[in-house]
Amino acid sequence: MERRDVIEMDVENPIVSGEGLPEDPLSEKPVFLCDLCRQEIFEGDTYIHYSGDIFCSTHHLGEHLIKQGLAEERVASNRLVH
Ligand SMILES: [Zn+2]
Repeated sequence: MERRDVIEMDVENPIVSGEGLPEDPLSEKPVFLCDLCRQEIFEGDTYIHYSGDIFCSTHHLGEHLIKQGLAEERVASNRLVH
């Protein structure tokens, strides 16, 4: 007698729609704008402050530093350059 164990998984996932989130763009004013991408930074958001400039993420601070020549983006290579 052959017996098959069928593991039934509930494939339906009701938590996909994202409904029910309180979203009212008029009720919240951005505190800052990212100096690189102009993304709005709202109260309670984390942001990066670097010598008077505001950035939405460390990534954008990094891009800013590269643009300003304060940091360099290099390609890693095993070949030594003299
Ligand atoms: Zn940004």
